[in-house]
Amino acid sequence: MARKLYIAGNWKMNTILAEGQALASALASQVGAAGDVDVAVAPPFVYLQAISDTLAGSAIGVGSQNMYFEDNGAFTGETSSAMLKDVGCTFAILGHSERRHVLGETDEMINRKVVKALADGLDVILAVGELLEEREADKTMDVVSRQIKVGLTGVLAADMARVTVAYEPVWAIGTGVTATPDQAQDVHAQIRALLAEMYDGDVAGATRIQYGGSVKPDNAAELLALPDVDGALVGGAALKVEAFMGIITAGQGLTV
Ligand code: PGA
Repeated sequence: MARKLYIAGNWKMNTILAEGQALASALASQVGAAGDVDVAVAPPFVYLQAISDTLAGSAIGVGSQNMYFEDNGAFTGETSSAMLKDVGCTFAILGHSERRHVLGETDEMINRKVVKALADGLDVILAVGELLEEREADKTMDVVSRQIKVGLTGVLAADMARVTVAYEPVWAIGTGVTATPDQAQDVHAQIRALLAEMYDGDVAGATRIQYGGSVKPDNAAELLALPDVDGALVGGAALKVEAFMGIITAGQGLTV
């Protein structure tokens, strides 16, 4: 089954308002009507409304970099699904390695967020990936399988159409070191096999698996052409119009 490429930009804790708006409006005009490739950005929370306004009517989706799993109440500093939808988000990135390793989120917390986001109508990009020492100890698939199995606990096959898995080896994030095409394809294929085991072949065949970790215009075409790589979750290169457009164009070149 053909899966449409999905390229998402994770702005992390970068940009102030004017920078984010300039980036978003340049992307909106250059991406145009798009179509061949799904494109989305995840700006900082405080600018979600502004960037949604800037991107209104464009082909670029807006999502958040995190979300909390309660509806409202005494959860200082947290943001609910209703708030995110209210400011124009259609998806949330959950389980990003910086949430896991810098902010201490557990697989169980991430699972609660995934279930809540889907129940409330947000799509999910579930990010998973191993640390360098885990790869060196040959534990990559142990870690990635656990993150996916726990992360998707309670998620029904019918909801998997709204889930994208992002495989991001932590050692490749923001380091300039990219997984080799063989390394990426190998893990992506094993993730797809795991989804077939957890769900069925149809779900596994339809679920998009993005690669993330130092994706740049000059390595994007090679990565996006891999049979089980269905897009990219882009950090640093998503902050520059030319670089992000270069990645999108590489994806579009593969679909024509
Ligand atoms: P990077 O980040 O592209 O800067 O490596 C990717 C990510 O963390 O999503």
